[in-house]
Amino acid sequence: MCDLHNPIFTDEGKAREALEAIRWPEGPFCPHCGNCDPEKIARGEGKVHRAGLYYCAACNGQFTVTVGTVMERSKIPLSKWLLAMHLMGASKKGMSALQLQRMLGVTYKTAWFLCHRIREAMAPAQRGPLGGEGKAVEADESYFGGKEKNKHVGKRKRGNIGVQGKQVVFALVERDGHSHSFHVASVSGETLRPLIVTHASRKSALMTDQGGQYVHVGKEFSRQESVNHGADEYVRGDAHTNTAECRFSLMKRAVYGTHHSVSEAHLPRYLAEWDFKWNTRKVKDGERATLIAKGIEGKRLTYRSTNKAPNA
Ligand SMILES: [Zn+2]
Repeated sequence: MCDLHNPIFTDEGKAREALEAIRWPEGPFCPHCGNCDPEKIARGEGKVHRAGLYYCAACNGQFTVTVGTVMERSKIPLSKWLLAMHLMGASKKGMSALQLQRMLGVTYKTAWFLCHRIREAMAPAQRGPLGGEGKAVEADESYFGGKEKNKHVGKRKRGNIGVQGKQVVFALVERDGHSHSFHVASVSGETLRPLIVTHASRKSALMTDQGGQYVHVGKEFSRQESVNHGADEYVRGDAHTNTAECRFSLMKRAVYGTHHSVSEAHLPRYLAEWDFKWNTRKVKDGERATLIAKGIEGKRLTYRSTNKAPNA
């Protein structure tokens, strides 16, 4: 899935074959009963059957490659889905729904739904703890949101100065490894500790800034090092949070440069997108698009439950 001239981006039959090969490398799999016995799965042939329809003799059910995924019931051609996955995966600074609308020749509403469903597909099905023995995990927080003075008068809130009124994002980043980020209510030891001990192995060295929120939880780790940003100290030996700051700056460039702003309701999906991009930064574009296509599974309910808007 790398060359834009690839027929999978224009031909529905080829797009379906490509998606089937990605999702079912061992052959079709019934999403209703889990049957994968080729003797008990028949492909609907001829014009009377919907394209890509399979029949399962084990449960008498029928399915296509999109059943049980973020693409289920979508009327958007599969070739456009694949192209959108490729474009979003390959764009280093993110892609807005407006840009996708122009590149795919779809309505804005369709482009918007594609963007959010693809972000959902980028979210990992499960996340193991970061770090481990001999490894370092950096913890850092950052603030997202517009300045009060730039907001419409009616949307300004009194008392929103500095970080007030902004969204707090907390990230754990393993050096030379993955990033897990979270939208949190506040930066306090109480809020952050459960995330830190769940998502980072206590055998790691925890690298933080001088913030009081890290003092207690740091003692649970094999070692904690902190640098005092307030005193202009950014690196001392292996103590620094530069990796986490780099991860934040990549996301900020996209949020402010491409999307301009991100609403609180959709922030978790943008975090999934930027964790995914960070975690696959050494992967080629085509391979990244394949990883997105593999991630479509089992996400439909999650998407539905967080967004009541109708299907596009
Ligand atoms: Zn079945």
